[in-house]
Amino acid sequence: MKENICTIPINDIFRETGGCPICRMHQMLEEQYVEFITGSAMMAPDVRVQTNKTGFCHRHYSQMVKTGPRLSNALLLQTHIEEMRAKALPKKLSDAPDKKMIEAIRNLEHTCYVCDRIDADILHLLKTVYAQYGVDEEFRKLYAGQEYICLDHYALVMTGASKKTVDKKYFSDFIEATNRLTATYMDSLYDSVTKFTTMYDYRSRGQDFSDCKDSIEKAVKFLTKEEV
Ligand SMILES: [Zn+2]
Ligand SMILES: [Zn+2]
Repeated sequence: MKENICTIPINDIFRETGGCPICRMHQMLEEQYVEFITGSAMMAPDVRVQTNKTGFCHRHYSQMVKTGPRLSNALLLQTHIEEMRAKALPKKLSDAPDKKMIEAIRNLEHTCYVCDRIDADILHLLKTVYAQYGVDEEFRKLYAGQEYICLDHYALVMTGASKKTVDKKYFSDFIEATNRLTATYMDSLYDSVTKFTTMYDYRSRGQDFSDCKDSIEKAVKFLTKEEV
């Protein structure tokens, strides 16, 4: 298989088979951006302009604080707090905040520099997945050989898939493979959770339930992308 710079991460990601490949993509990008933001990004003023505006979600603050240098975290917070103080609160303590100020606080709940970058990168990487599917037989096998695609990423993959992004010849093939990955796993989850519910029934005494013990954790991961 020929590999250019653009296909290296994609093929690496799809060579693994445990769980959802887009979740693996997400995790890879997340680790890189969290390290970047408290590391080399400290030297990039344009990134700081952006993070001052958007801030971070709790998940990413938490990862940055746990893994990044204390000083970097403090510097990022310092200028972000400064910007938010000016944007979100009235200058005079006797003034009520206007609509725009409240809106600035509400918007902050939905913006995160790391989340935004990951979302943009995943869309870009998905374009490579669509393109690769149309030209690379081995990649098609890797794609079909995945354990599953989680529900949220199923929607994301399907939203971007069209006869323009996936080669026309392989479009229905791609749709079928993606449907199969999500539907087959969803069916197996249903069976597994159903089996679990019969575990406490006295009529099931003596049966082997070892294959459905973790069905609850697996189902939550599939539905939310997050480990319990
Ligand atoms: Zn996923
Ligand atoms: Zn985030």
